Amino acid sequence: MGNKMKNLLAGLLGALMFAYASVKAVPAATLPVHKISDHFYVIEAREDDGSNVGVLVSGTGVLLIDTMLPDAKDMLLATLATITDKPVTHVISTHGDGDHTGANTHFQNLGAEIILQANVAYSNVLYTRTYEDTLTLTFGGQTVMLYGFKSHSFEDTLIHLPQDNVIFTGDAYNEGWHPSFYSGGYEGQSAVYDKTEALADPKTLIVPGHGKLSRIEDVIHQRTLLDDWINHIKALKDAGQSYEAMAEDPQTIAFWNDFTRSADNPRGREMFVRRTLATELMDMVSLSHDQLSALEGRYLYTDGVRVEIALEDGKLFARNKGDFFSELQPLSPSIFHLRGWVGGQRFIFDTGKDGKTMGLTFVGTSNNYKARRLKNDSPH
Ligand SMILES: [Zn+2]
Repeated sequence: MGNKMKNLLAGLLGALMFAYASVKAVPAATLPVHKISDHFYVIEAREDDGSNVGVLVSGTGVLLIDTMLPDAKDMLLATLATITDKPVTHVISTHGDGDHTGANTHFQNLGAEIILQANVAYSNVLYTRTYEDTLTLTFGGQTVMLYGFKSHSFEDTLIHLPQDNVIFTGDAYNEGWHPSFYSGGYEGQSAVYDKTEALADPKTLIVPGHGKLSRIEDVIHQRTLLDDWINHIKALKDAGQSYEAMAEDPQTIAFWNDFTRSADNPRGREMFVRRTLATELMDMVSLSHDQLSALEGRYLYTDGVRVEIALEDGKLFARNKGDFFSELQPLSPSIFHLRGWVGGQRFIFDTGKDGKTMGLTFVGTSNNYKARRLKNDSPH
C-alpha cells in the first residue's frame, strides 16, 4: 500500500474517531430541578423518563428517592451533577417497579444502600435493606420517615420529610392519572390517602410517582373521584353491562377525563374499567377463618417452583420469594380469583374426603399448573 493511500486511510479513520468522540462528548440532557430548600431538590421527570426523583444532600453524600427508568440513567446522573458532586450513598425506592428503580444497580455497585419495604423480597428487585411498617432515618440532620403500604404494589413506601414538608407517594398517587390500586385494592388505597392527609397541611409539597408536583387538595380531589368512580362502575355492573359497554358509557368517559386531564384513550379507559372490576368488584363468597386457614401451607409445582399460601389480616395470599405475590379472593370455597388480574386466572384447591387440602391448580390464561401440598408443612 502506498503512503498516499495510508495517509488517506489514517485521515479517514481519524475523522471517524473524531466524529465518534464528539458524539460521546455531548453532555446528556438534563431535567428540570425544583429547589425545595438548601439541601433538598426534586427532579421532575418527563412522561418517558420514569419516576420523579428526590435528592437529599448532606455534607458527605446524597440520598435519592427513586431512580427513574434504566434508559434515563445518563440523564439522571447529568441532572444530579448540576445539583451536587457528592456521591449517592442511599437510595429509597417507593416500590420495585422498573420505572422507579432504573439506576439502583448502578448506585448499589458504587456502594449505596438500597432501601425498600420488606415485601420486595417477593419480587426479583435488588435491595440491601428492608423494613416492615415504618422506618425513621436521619440523613445530614434531616429526618426521613418511611411508611409501608399495600396499594399500587405490595411494597409501597410513602416517604415524609417533615423539616422540608414534603411527601413522596410513589405510584400510590400519580398526578394526571387514575389510581392504580391493583395490589391492595380500595382498602390499601384509602390507607395511603388517610396517611397522606394526616401528614400534610395545605403547604405540603406532594411529589407523585409521576406527574406534576401537587398539594393535598389534589390528592383529596382524586380520592373523592375514586369513591364516585367505584360506585359508578358498580352501578353499571349491577345493571348487567359488559365491560366494553361500561368503558363507552358517557359518565365513564367524563370520569376518565377528570382523572387523567389528557386526550381520551379508549384502550386505557377500558383497561381501567376491567382492572377496577378485577380489583374491587368481584362476586366473592364469604369464607370462615377456618376454611381459609385450611388452605395455608407450601405447595410444590411439578417444575420445582414453590408457592406459599398464607393468611394475613383475614386475607389469603399466594406468594413465592423472588417471584410472585398476589391476594386470592374466594369465588367459592375452593376457587380463588387473583385480585387485580384481568386474564381470568384462578387458583383451585383440591380437598380430599377428610377435608384436608391435598394440592392446587393454577389456571393460567393458556396452561394449567398442578402443585401438591408439601407434607408436614401445614401450620396446624
Ligand atoms: Zn411508576
